[in-house]
Amino acid sequence: MDSQTFQALTPETLPARLGGNEVLKAKIGPDASRWSVREVGDGNLNLVFIVEGTSGAAVVKQALPYVRLVGESWPLPLKRSFFEYHALTRQAARDPGMVPEIYHFDGTQAIIVMEYLTPHVILRRALIEGRQLPKIGRDLGLFLARTLFRGSDLSMEARARKEDLALFADNVELCDITENLVFSDPYFEAELNRHTPELDDIVADLRSDRDMKVTAQIMKHKFAASAETLLHGDLHTGSVMVTAENTRVIDPEFAFYGPMAFDVGMLLANFWMSYFSQSGHETAKGERDGMRDYLLDVIEEIWATFRTEFAHLWRTERKGILYQASLFEKRGDPLASEQALNGVIADIWTDMLGFAGVEMHRRILGLAHNADFETIADTGRRAACERKALKLGRHLAVNRRSIHSLADIRATAELLE
Ligand code: ADP
Ligand code: MG
Ligand code: MG
Ligand code: MG
Repeated sequence: MDSQTFQALTPETLPARLGGNEVLKAKIGPDASRWSVREVGDGNLNLVFIVEGTSGAAVVKQALPYVRLVGESWPLPLKRSFFEYHALTRQAARDPGMVPEIYHFDGTQAIIVMEYLTPHVILRRALIEGRQLPKIGRDLGLFLARTLFRGSDLSMEARARKEDLALFADNVELCDITENLVFSDPYFEAELNRHTPELDDIVADLRSDRDMKVTAQIMKHKFAASAETLLHGDLHTGSVMVTAENTRVIDPEFAFYGPMAFDVGMLLANFWMSYFSQSGHETAKGERDGMRDYLLDVIEEIWATFRTEFAHLWRTERKGILYQASLFEKRGDPLASEQALNGVIADIWTDMLGFAGVEMHRRILGLAHNADFETIADTGRRAACERKALKLGRHLAVNRRSIHSLADIRATAELLE
């Protein structure tokens, strides 16, 4: 086969095509004729294969030149695999152990060979089943603080940082998906939108909801124009794999330089949506009370951990071009540095609420919906859950400057529930 031409893998062709790869052979066993392959991709975009050999297993992820969910009519460049690979290597350095280990990358074939996470499951699935994972709050809070801080001008050396910004600036097409599907489509009659029919009234209201529409565009402006740090870019509960003891983050193909608050807000929004979806999965009223309480606890733990770790990194690793110690601590004025830190965190908080509210709208009214709600078969029941999530989402986004604590948001969520 001409190795310069892209060809999609199949379970049948994979052993022949990757059977000569020394790294993979060393990981899973040298005799490719004894590999077994199954395709498990449940995502919207790519192929994912689990390859099991005689001495181990690995995951082979391959991008396609189009959006898998839609088909060849929606082309999408293979280079997203390149960005995913480079984001994974940076995340591995910034928060060791939190992403799958990478074994091999082939840019032409858009293939990443990586660690097979097992017995991990997708966090979203676990939450739908009502499972409480004890470690995720802390692990995800640390991941956010470490990746967002260490990828920014607060930490990176100026040249490396600017080169990296240029490298990821080419991820235009995936940013374009976010810019349209997240920030604009839900706010007009975009062709790809869909919603549960019982929400017709709320969609009609949104068409003339000036505050929410302007807020979504303010957040879009920040997303497009604030190149603060290397974002994961698609950090929802479907991009986290878990066991009771271990948390991993996967699928950063949307990675690019954007505002710190984006990853935080997207992730927390998915926990708030999980919260409101719980009643749709109850077989008896109140059955998921403990789960609801747990989800709000996790949100608080993610934020508290993020804040604490970000402050720790600020005090111990602030070696980039911003807020230099030579202006503050080294002049005997550590309080000035603390003042600046509090300002930065306050801005992340406010923007986080804006992004979270926007994410909650697009997951219910846009193209890409969440299994949390979609698996509630009865549309009346589903719509009741979605309606509450939309109400909270609007509240968070529009009032983001006057909401000051997660305790208040907890009370608001419990009031809506
Ligand atoms: P997409 O970009 O298409 O969304 P993902 O990277 O999210 O693809 O992977 C799709 C699915 O494949 C995941 O939901 C998960 O079930 C499985 N998967 C992906 N990477 C791994 C891995 N390293 N180990 C185990 N399963 C994985
Ligand atoms: Mg995915
Ligand atoms: Mg993906
Ligand atoms: Mg409690």
